[in-house]
Amino acid sequence: MPQIEPPRLGEPYLLTPGPLTTAYSVKAAMLRDWGSWDGDFRAMTASLRAQLLAMLGAAAADYDCVPMQGSGSFAVEAMLGSFIPKSGKVLVLANGAYGLRAAETLRYFGRAHVVLDKGDYLPPRGVEVAKMLAEDPAITHVVAIHCETSSGILNPIAEISAATYAAGRKLLIDSMSAFGAVHLDPAEVRFEALVSSANKCIEGVPGFGFVLAKHAELAAARGNSHSLALDIHAQWAYMNKTGQWRYTPPTHVVAAFLEALRLHKAEGGVAGRGARYANNRDTLVEGMRALGFETLLADKWLSPIITTFFCPDDAAFDFTRFYDALKSRGFIIYPGKLTAVESFRIGCIGQMDAHTMRAVVAAVGETLAEMGVTSATPPALALAERAKLTD
Ligand SMILES: *Cc1c(COP(=O)(O)O)cnc(C)c1O
Repeated sequence: MPQIEPPRLGEPYLLTPGPLTTAYSVKAAMLRDWGSWDGDFRAMTASLRAQLLAMLGAAAADYDCVPMQGSGSFAVEAMLGSFIPKSGKVLVLANGAYGLRAAETLRYFGRAHVVLDKGDYLPPRGVEVAKMLAEDPAITHVVAIHCETSSGILNPIAEISAATYAAGRKLLIDSMSAFGAVHLDPAEVRFEALVSSANKCIEGVPGFGFVLAKHAELAAARGNSHSLALDIHAQWAYMNKTGQWRYTPPTHVVAAFLEALRLHKAEGGVAGRGARYANNRDTLVEGMRALGFETLLADKWLSPIITTFFCPDDAAFDFTRFYDALKSRGFIIYPGKLTAVESFRIGCIGQMDAHTMRAVVAAVGETLAEMGVTSATPPALALAERAKLTD
């Protein structure tokens, strides 16, 4: 495994799910300018597309890769608008902010949809999907979130896919925070398209997203999109014809991404990256539990991407002070997104290893002592909440 070096520029570690801590060489790759129409940059775009496609394994031949300018949400909107025909109807599976955002996106551009809303974190299950699809023959597509970054849960994408295709419908996946670190082989989990972005598990800097979609879906997507700039079919057709992006590409971000892809490959691709993140999570969770903290999710549901911890019940605990004290020790964490109880999240992705995670845990321990928190045990309500997710 390549050596993970600490940030060279004196920055804090970003224990957040993207933007995240990138390698120095990724940042350094941005120190020159590129002409977007020039052959050198066109070759960079072609390489980026081919390398992302290759991550799908043997099934890659059925898919093509279309990068799209903007943050991840722009790419989600591009995918939904381009692949769901105006006459389509969508079942959105929501258990957190990103599922709800997908539904809100559909509302904006007026695609018929229903939402299975499981609340803050409970996973949408295959049997529930099967039931809803059986009851509503008008539904054409299911939209699922692979890792719901709001809680850090790894949703049961295989059973969701099986239920979707058993009912003769199509699956679109938001794999934003999972792609590149969580194994997803179309030969095992069927889907028409997935979307991810530059600044998550590939460890690039923010500036574009990308869609991996079946050739047949890309060809059939003509005329679907509500948006000129976010039309995946048009971007794909133009890119295949000219080798260029349709409008100004984020040239420096692409250069950084190619360096990030080189590091990804050197680490052993999806398996190697996923193993480091899983080790980060295990080290973090073990250390935090030893301090008395509790995770929102049972081990089975913990993604290797980000983990939600309950805030301690101790009256001396104050999240803002906790955050600031950790930042002063070089670690930026993430507030929680649960509605019923107080929580915070710690990301496991980016240029960090188990050594980093042990340092985070040590900083958390020091901070609790400094605040006078004697117990990290969460309130009873939090544990009652967690008991809702059993299998
Ligand atoms: C990060 C993320 C997105 C996109 O968020 P942006 O802020 O627009 O980049 C979408 N879905 C999931 C699951 C994510 O983790």
